[in-house]
Amino acid sequence: MSFNKLFIILNTGRTIRQGMFMESDGKWSKKYFDEVAYIEMNPEDVKTLGNPSKVKVSTNRGSVVLPVRVNDRVRKGSAFIPMGPCASLLVDHETDGTGIPYLKSTKAIVEPTDEPLTTLQDFLKILEAKVVDIPITDLETKPGEKRVVENVSCPFCGDVCDYLRIEVEGARIVRNVGGCAISISKFLNYNKHRILKPYIRDGNRFIEVSLEKAIDMAAEILANAKYPLIYGLSSTCVEAIEVATEIAEVTHGVIDNTSVVCHGPTMLALQEVGAVTATFGPMLHLADLVIFWGCNPREAHMNHISRIVMPRGRFVEGRKARKVVIVDVRKTVTADMADLFIQVEPGRDVELLRALRMAIKDLEIEVPVVAGVPREKIIELAEMLRTARYGVLFFGMGLTQSEARFRAIEEAMKLVQELNEWTKFVLLPMRGHYNVNGANQVLLWNTGYPYAVDFARGFPRMIVGVTSTPDLLANGDVDAALIIASDPAAHFPRKAVEHLSKIPVIVVDAKWSLTTAFADIVIPAGMVGIECEGTVYRMDGVPIYMKKILDPPPGILCDKDVLEMLLKKVKELKKVSS
Ligand code: SF4
Repeated sequence: MSFNKLFIILNTGRTIRQGMFMESDGKWSKKYFDEVAYIEMNPEDVKTLGNPSKVKVSTNRGSVVLPVRVNDRVRKGSAFIPMGPCASLLVDHETDGTGIPYLKSTKAIVEPTDEPLTTLQDFLKILEAKVVDIPITDLETKPGEKRVVENVSCPFCGDVCDYLRIEVEGARIVRNVGGCAISISKFLNYNKHRILKPYIRDGNRFIEVSLEKAIDMAAEILANAKYPLIYGLSSTCVEAIEVATEIAEVTHGVIDNTSVVCHGPTMLALQEVGAVTATFGPMLHLADLVIFWGCNPREAHMNHISRIVMPRGRFVEGRKARKVVIVDVRKTVTADMADLFIQVEPGRDVELLRALRMAIKDLEIEVPVVAGVPREKIIELAEMLRTARYGVLFFGMGLTQSEARFRAIEEAMKLVQELNEWTKFVLLPMRGHYNVNGANQVLLWNTGYPYAVDFARGFPRMIVGVTSTPDLLANGDVDAALIIASDPAAHFPRKAVEHLSKIPVIVVDAKWSLTTAFADIVIPAGMVGIECEGTVYRMDGVPIYMKKILDPPPGILCDKDVLEMLLKKVKELKKVSS
C-alpha cells in the first residue's frame, strides 16, 4: 500500500440518498450512516494514494476514517463528504464574526490507513453523548378506510410542493402522487422511528414520564437558566415559532433557527444591499435563462426543475426555450442538464461574481483566468445574462458558505440589480427546510431580526458571531437549550455539539434525531403537514397552508400546543403575567 498523503479542499452538501434514508430508516440506522460516512474523490487523487478502499481524513478539528467512493465529478484536489455527523467532526467551528461555520472549503489531509472505519458509536463517544441506548420505536399503523387527500403540501424542502395527492388506508399512507423521491420516502415512512412517549434522562438511559411531568421539568430548566438557547424551528409551522419566540423573550434567552448555518449570509446581504426577487409564477411564465449557482436541485429540491425549468410557461416554450447555466465547484447531477457548466474554484465565487459584474459593463478583465474560469467563458456568460429576456439566479449553500460569506451574496445581488439596466433579472435563495423562510419571517415581524435574536437585555438584538448558535455553543455561552424540530448534533461542528453534552437539553421532535442522544428531556410532537396543520413560507415568500392528513398518535400534541404548555409553565415560574 502506498502511504502518500494528499492535501485537499473538503466540501460538504446534500445528496438524494441521504435525504431518503433519513426519512425511511432514520438517523440511527446503518443505512443513513452509510450514506453520510464516505468520501468522494477524483480518480486521479485516489490513484495517487494507491487506490485505497478507505482513508483517514484529518483537519485541524479532528479526523475520521471513511470508505472511498471514486467520482470523476469531483474536482482534482477536492473531496466531498455528505452533510452529516462525519463532515461535522471535521469542519471548523470558527465563524469569524459571520455566525456561520466553514462547512465548505475546509483544508484537509487524506491518507490511506489500516485503522477501522468510524462508526456512529465512535461519533457519539467522541462527542460525549449522554444517552446511546435510544428506545427507537415505529408507530403501529392499522389499515382501514381508504381516503384520498388532494392538494397536500409537502413538508420537506423549501419548494413546499402543494399539489400532492396522498392516498391513505386507515392510519397508513400508501401512496404519494406528485411528490419527489424524498417526499415519497417522508410520507410513506412517517410512522418510522417515532418518539411516542415523553422521556427524561436517568443516568445514561431514558425513562418514560407523563407529558405534564416532562413539561414541568423542561419549564424548570428554562426558567432557572441564565441564558437559554431556543433553536431549530425550520421544520415546524409559523404558529409554533411565534410561541417559541415568546419563550425566548420571557426567559431572556436567545432564539435562532437553522438559517444560521445555511442562508444566514443571505439575510445579512439582503439587509445591506436588498434584492430584486420574484415568486415562482413569473419565473415559470417568463424566464428564458435560469442559473443555479452553488446548489444542486436535482438532489436537494428534486421537483424544482420540473416545476420551474421544464414546463411550458405562458410566454416561454418550456425547457427548449430556456437556457440553463450551472456554476459549481463540482460537476453535480444538475450540471448534466446545463447548456453551460462553469466549474469555479472552491471558495472563490466572489471573484467570479465581480468579474461578471465587470464583463456585463464591458470593462476589461486583465487576467486570463478568474477563480479557475477562463476569461472567454466569463464573457460568454455575461453575454448570456445581458441578452436574456428574463433571467433567474437561484443560489444555494455553495455560495452562502463560500469563504466570502455574505460578501459573495452581496455581489450576486448587485449583479442582478445591475442586470436590470439591460433586461429583467431576479434572484432567489434555494431554501432547504420547508419553513426556514417562515422562521426568518416570524422573527422579523416580531423582533425586526431574522435569526440569532437575543433577549438578554429585555429587548431584541442580533449580533452575528456572538448571538448566533454555532458561536454561542462553541463559546459555551448558553446554559440550557430547547431544540425544536431540528438536529444540530448531526450538522454542527464538533466543538458546538460538545457543549450540548455539558448543559441541560430539551428536545421537542417527532422522530429520534442524533440530538436526542444529548437530551435530558425528550417531548414527542406531531408532524406538521401530516398530523398537524399550520402555515409555512415557501422559499419565494408565499405562505402555504399545510393540511392535516392523519391524527397524531394518542397523547401526542402538535409543536404549537407543546410550546404553549411550556410557555404557560415558564411564565408561572418566572411570575410573568399572560
Ligand atoms: S421538491 Fe421538496 S417540497 Fe417538493 S416534493 Fe420534493 S421534497 Fe417535497
